Amino acid sequence: MPLPPETLAALRSDAEAQLPAIVELRRALHRTPEIGLHLPVTQRLVLDAIAPLDLEVSTGTALSSVVAVLRGGRPGPAVLLRGDMDALPVTEDSGEPFTSERDGVMHACGHDLHVAGLVGAARLLAARRDELAGDVVLMFQPGEEGDHGARLMIEEGVLDAAGSRVVAAYGLHVLSAVLPAGVVASRHGTVLAAADSVHVTVHGRGGHGSMPHLAADPVPVAAEIVLALQTMVTRQFDVFDPVVVSVGRIEAGTTDNVIPATARLEATVRSFSDATHAVVPERLTRVVEGIAAAHGLTATVDYRRGYPVTSNTPAEVDRAAALVHGLLGERAYVPFPQPLAGSEDFSYVLQQVPGAYLGLGATPPGLDPATAPYNHSAQARFAEESLAVGPAVLAALALDRLAQGV
Ligand SMILES: [Zn+2]
Repeated sequence: MPLPPETLAALRSDAEAQLPAIVELRRALHRTPEIGLHLPVTQRLVLDAIAPLDLEVSTGTALSSVVAVLRGGRPGPAVLLRGDMDALPVTEDSGEPFTSERDGVMHACGHDLHVAGLVGAARLLAARRDELAGDVVLMFQPGEEGDHGARLMIEEGVLDAAGSRVVAAYGLHVLSAVLPAGVVASRHGTVLAAADSVHVTVHGRGGHGSMPHLAADPVPVAAEIVLALQTMVTRQFDVFDPVVVSVGRIEAGTTDNVIPATARLEATVRSFSDATHAVVPERLTRVVEGIAAAHGLTATVDYRRGYPVTSNTPAEVDRAAALVHGLLGERAYVPFPQPLAGSEDFSYVLQQVPGAYLGLGATPPGLDPATAPYNHSAQARFAEESLAVGPAVLAALALDRLAQGV
């Protein structure tokens, strides 16, 4: 049941009209980036920005989250819109006039635009309260960059904040490259990878480099493990349901003629389906322990689960595509041909409720999406005209889903 064209046109023009205020908020956030689960300055900016909107506001305990419930004028279910709030340990080199005022901290992933954009969506929806057949839960979330903030907010009840379990959840991510500014992209099913990390220690016995037979050398065992993990990836997993293992750190020893007692490896492990994500730790551990045993050594595997696969509900992706077409034209939505190999803790939300996670192009004017500095780069810049698109899309998703009923 797509929203009528006049509703979409009004959302679009209202989003354009509020753009200067949303840009101002975004720049204030950008100047004062914070890392992790506790973001007091960011939280204060959010609370001040939404104070005039007559929302039911609560804040988190384990993290400095903000949950705000917008009650619609008519009864109905609840939907959730999410914006993550945290920055990265990056020294900004973007050249923006509103550059970070904190040494070594930068909104390099564009989460400042997510916060400002969610405030923008809240303003658009508050102005249409009477048209809303249900409630909207606004999820302002710290700790996306590895701290599992979404999981903590779920544990603190965000999915039931309106009094009933939300029937759908939506989020988006700005991209400083890959997509032209204002273009929205997503896909059915898996849209982002699962990302785990593994720390391996090979335990040998140290000795003199001239007499390795009197020692138990962990270095060649570690080297064999690095190569065997790549063989595991290609021989034990379907090429169309792939696994990526990259050993990013390898460490052993102190000098050339001493055999060390241990060697250590650290790797990131990406996968794209729940089924594969479930079996990777066991297979990887078998390879590591088996190679160590083959040479008379032992190995310990510390497998650390990161975020699960982010998986979209096809009907909700179709809803987003139809709304983007209605808001911005036929060319404003493109399907992602493959998932992105990044990961997201919005995955925890989409494990619990239907919904969609969207990419929003924010390549700056004059730059080529194929070569512009990507998210997490110290040079990353984000086109602020995307702040007219994101809020309109999120507000349209909420209005459209609520119009459908339970
Ligand atoms: Zn991000």
